[in-house]
Amino acid sequence: MNLDKVEAEDLHAFARDLAVKNFGREIYIRGLIEISTYCKSNCYYCGLRLANKNTKRLRLSKEEILDLASYSVDLGIKTIVMQGGEDDFYSLDYLKEIIYHIKEKFPDVAITLSLGERDFQDFEALKNMGADRHLLRHETYSKSHYQRLHPSSMKFENRIDSILKLKDLGFQTGCGMMVGSPYQRLENLYEDLKFILKLRPQMVGIGPFIPQHDTPFRDFEGGKLEDVLKILYIVRIADEKLLLPSTTALGSIDEFGREKGILAGANVLMPNVGAEKLRKNYKLYDNKIGTEVQNSDDFMGLEKKLEKIGYKISKSRGDYK
Ligand code: SAM
Ligand code: SF4
Repeated sequence: MNLDKVEAEDLHAFARDLAVKNFGREIYIRGLIEISTYCKSNCYYCGLRLANKNTKRLRLSKEEILDLASYSVDLGIKTIVMQGGEDDFYSLDYLKEIIYHIKEKFPDVAITLSLGERDFQDFEALKNMGADRHLLRHETYSKSHYQRLHPSSMKFENRIDSILKLKDLGFQTGCGMMVGSPYQRLENLYEDLKFILKLRPQMVGIGPFIPQHDTPFRDFEGGKLEDVLKILYIVRIADEKLLLPSTTALGSIDEFGREKGILAGANVLMPNVGAEKLRKNYKLYDNKIGTEVQNSDDFMGLEKKLEKIGYKISKSRGDYK
């Protein structure tokens, strides 16, 4: 055996074959609804941070969210992801109402929350109300690195405890990190991988860090496509059943980034089904691509892109098996 001859392409193929073994050549689709550009947090990397005075703040009402959920279901999408800044407008009761109405109308649709940290009692109540999944990236498993990415009011311990709590409550839980975030070292990614192997989450969100011009990290270099693809195939090889999105951020740094992510072992896409007013202002980072599916033509466009690489859209809800 000569390992010198093992190229990145072989590892992509190996990871891809593992994904195909578990999911077929089918990609799970999540309808991403960005619900708010308000955020009370101040992560140094994100354009929605509270201190950014140049972001237009907008949010969706319960009725608007229900309309978009209904629209997603019409397209055949069976998972809705509600994502946004940490916005206290969405009180526990308000969120519970939204979940209640979506589940009442579409009992078979999975609801994923990605609204940042909350009280643990809130997480529990939202789970009891019928939320199925929760995404909360750990961002880095190094306390010192975490503190360089966030102000001191944001605590590494709380982030990790929140993720553990979500998993404990029975949410299909997603953690994740940016590749190439400022001050990241190779050993940080190694610690991230060890954390993933210990936590055994159902999902891991991995994308490149991309600088945003109104944040303190505006002058840092962004993460590189090849590095993200490497981490994707390593994570796929580490856990063949994981739900692994090929992220919008990956598609934002390379025209075919999302396709390349799938060919390195990813099996989930999260196109934007949200309202236009939010999409234009949901600027986490610069040059974010539009991934919107605003009508059935867009949806067919997505299907065609997948067909070109030999994949198709899965009709299933895409739960973790
Ligand atoms: N507010 C929620 C939270 O922080 O979990 C959900 C929305 S937040 C915008 C979702 C993810 O976007 C974050 O976990 C972070 O990893 C990613 N993100 C934020 N700014 C980014 C940037 N400049 N480049 C790449 N990803 C970024
Ligand atoms: Fe707010 Fe999330 Fe952005 Fe942090 S990453 S500033 S919590 S929207």
